Amino acid sequence: MLSQMGATSHLSPHLTFGTISVRSVYQKTKLRAEELKNHPKAEFSLKAFRERLRWHDSFTQRLYFYPEIAYKNRYEEFDNLYTPEPLSPAKQELFQAWQQGRTGFPLVDASIRQLKTMGWMNFRMRAMCATFLTINCGISWHHGAKHYMNYLVDGDLAIDNWQWQMQAGVTNPLSDTFRIYNPNKNISEKDPDGSFIYHWIPEFHGYSLQDILTEKYKCDSSYPLPILNWSKTRKVNGKIVSDLRKQTKVRLISLGGDEYESAVVAKETVDKYWQYKDKEYQEYQQKLTQTEF
Ligand SMILES: Cc1cc2nc3c(=O)[nH]c(=O)nc-3n(C[C@H](O)[C@H](O)[C@H](O)COP(=O)(O)OP(=O)(O)OC[C@H]3O[C@@H](n4cnc5c(N)ncnc54)[C@H](O)[C@@H]3O)c2cc1C
Repeated sequence: MLSQMGATSHLSPHLTFGTISVRSVYQKTKLRAEELKNHPKAEFSLKAFRERLRWHDSFTQRLYFYPEIAYKNRYEEFDNLYTPEPLSPAKQELFQAWQQGRTGFPLVDASIRQLKTMGWMNFRMRAMCATFLTINCGISWHHGAKHYMNYLVDGDLAIDNWQWQMQAGVTNPLSDTFRIYNPNKNISEKDPDGSFIYHWIPEFHGYSLQDILTEKYKCDSSYPLPILNWSKTRKVNGKIVSDLRKQTKVRLISLGGDEYESAVVAKETVDKYWQYKDKEYQEYQQKLTQTEF
């Protein structure tokens, strides 16, 4: 809604439930790309769109061959950290605040409220709310993935569970880094005029965006105080996940064999994707400059 309209196709509910096939979307996109051959921006966007269609099918294929990824951690090193067991009372409190959109982090809360009302969030907000729950709150991806499946209009077991494991830092352990989104930094990047936040958090009416960013509303608003210290939890819990990734990497390298090979392929695929993306973007910028002059 609002700042998220128009940026992507919103086709996912159809693709999930089969009311429109990936094949027909792919073919129509190819035809349109032919028509728009001399429009670098459109060509670039349509190519990126087709890549995402490929991801959709690759996740479906993965679940078909490895159905256990729907409930099991991809790597056993994470089995003590991420479990589907009931939460402790303290964790349950954090989880409820997250589920209700009352964490005190405006962008997380706006997104979760949007999910509850519309069954929708864009990719970045899905990922950001997932890292907030798993890394900052220290709550297993199992709980978050189930919540998304209960509300998303495009809820797809194959994509949802794998994406949750990815955001929780379980997958691709051969890569030295994994991403933890900063919800407050994302406000200025993704919602610079605050329209998304104002829409979903009526408690902010009467406050300027500057008041929100500097947390001036804290004194007299009904909006909750932050439920945790983002930097501290990022550092402490991020290190726990990072150490488990290192342990996984060491085991895979020492074991060798199929598991190691498959991890190497995963890393190469991700690395290649980003290299390719950079190259494509540079080519697009070049074409753009050529058409402008
Ligand atoms: C934690 C998390 C959970 C998610 N759960 C789901 C889910 O249950 N169902 C779902 O369809 N998508 C899920 N996604 C992926 C993605 O957010 C959505 O597919 C996308 O936001 C749908 O919007 P769109 O149709 O406008 O996408 P567009 O950008 O227009 O992309 C076109 C199509 O490509 C596919 N696609 C796009 N991004 C991805 C991706 N990252 N992975 C796999 N396929 C993709 C979708 O089928 C989508 O409809 C999840 C992402 C995260 C981070």
